[in-house]
Amino acid sequence: MRKIECISVFDMLKVGVGPSSSHTLGPWRAAQRWIAELKQKERFNEVEKIHVDLYGSLSLTGKGHATDIATILGLLGHDPVTMDISIIESEIERLKHSGRLLLNGERELDFSFNEDIKFNRKFLEFHPNGITFRAILKNGKKTSSSFYSIGGGFVVKKERKNASKKMKNFQEFPFPVEKATELVQYCKAENKRISDIVLENERSLRSDEEIDTGLKQIWQVMLESMYIGCHTEGTLPGGLNVKRRSFEMHQRLIGDTEYSSVEDWIPAIRKTEVKFRQILKWVSCFALSVNEVNASLGRVVTAPTNGSAGTVPAVLMYYMVIENHQASFDEIKRFMLVAGEIGSLFKKGATISAAMGGCQAEIGVSSAMAAGGLTELLGGTPEQVLMASEIAMEHHLGLTCDPIGGLVQVPCIERNAMGAIKAINAAEIAMESDASRAKVPLDKVIETMWETAKDMNKKYKETSEGGLAVKVNLSDC
Ligand code: SF4
Repeated sequence: MRKIECISVFDMLKVGVGPSSSHTLGPWRAAQRWIAELKQKERFNEVEKIHVDLYGSLSLTGKGHATDIATILGLLGHDPVTMDISIIESEIERLKHSGRLLLNGERELDFSFNEDIKFNRKFLEFHPNGITFRAILKNGKKTSSSFYSIGGGFVVKKERKNASKKMKNFQEFPFPVEKATELVQYCKAENKRISDIVLENERSLRSDEEIDTGLKQIWQVMLESMYIGCHTEGTLPGGLNVKRRSFEMHQRLIGDTEYSSVEDWIPAIRKTEVKFRQILKWVSCFALSVNEVNASLGRVVTAPTNGSAGTVPAVLMYYMVIENHQASFDEIKRFMLVAGEIGSLFKKGATISAAMGGCQAEIGVSSAMAAGGLTELLGGTPEQVLMASEIAMEHHLGLTCDPIGGLVQVPCIERNAMGAIKAINAAEIAMESDASRAKVPLDKVIETMWETAKDMNKKYKETSEGGLAVKVNLSDC
């Protein structure tokens, strides 16, 4: 039996809170899982004191990525999908001032914000993003549990207890896919598009109604994050004094066109004049808007990570408002199914964690996902879809991760715009190409990305210890 775990489109595209999937969403989920573990072992009511240790990259860029805040929100019992994000600041301030933490909203404990979450420079062996929760129980005994945030909001334990269930689910897929070559073979044998194959697999996990409801929710969050970003002025938090740019950019692009809600927004944009420069600006504006929302602890869709959350919606929105004014949920669904599958190929064959592979694993993968989704909607063959994804990644190979001040702002926000534009260009090149003559198959570029990741100097893997992060001083900003 192949030891491959099933990855659903809902693993690759999930609702979360910014700024980082590995450093915010992952630790948040880890805290929730630890509470569930304590309850399952009937230790929850015995806990008297808790302490959290962050290791490696989670520690080095944890302050800028709000890892401490996310961990606390998880300990407080909030869920990243449903929490009212407008109360995050007040929740944290209350804890800081009172020195008390209401564990899972049930048990009040002493907790010092500054002392009970420790940032350790040391890396744990299993993965660069380690987090250990420790508790002292009423009987004086201690208990601890370690989790690893492996990118894209995925959280695992070293012993990987869920792995066998996920492997079984993979085996039960009608079309189990590990490599891009298998995917295209299924398409040929069944005479289906990539989205049809992915949908069949998804149906072995959930009903059609659940798939449609879930994808509509994801699109709604993507759309709202673009809308909120385009309608919010000011400066991003964190101390870099980064001005939000999508607000003014959007104002200039939309001009006098009237609309009054997020629903009216799409038809309003369709009425605006779009020449090449406007198209570039609209796509950039959509990408910047999502990542400005992400940088201010807003709600976005992890695609495949939070730092790269703007690329996929920007390209899908481009299709909706510029390329096809009749586009409906059917196109949105197909785009997401293809994009999710492309992302899962990278997760299976390489990584989507910047702490493992640098920014090629985030923006590179998001660009490849978007290029694939767009190419299918443009009428490309399955081979052209894979070619577009390959082209998009090929020109991100070696991209390092060097966020200034550990914040997901510079270079991150603009990188999403570049990833989106590259995805559109990759799709167009693939549409003009005979994909059977492609020199670099997608599987080879995935392997190359992984080899490049292993060769990359550790300081370029989400540590803020190299590149722009050391060249640009916070005091200059
Ligand atoms: S540089 Fe790239 S990988 Fe690193 S935090 Fe920014 S977007 Fe993520």
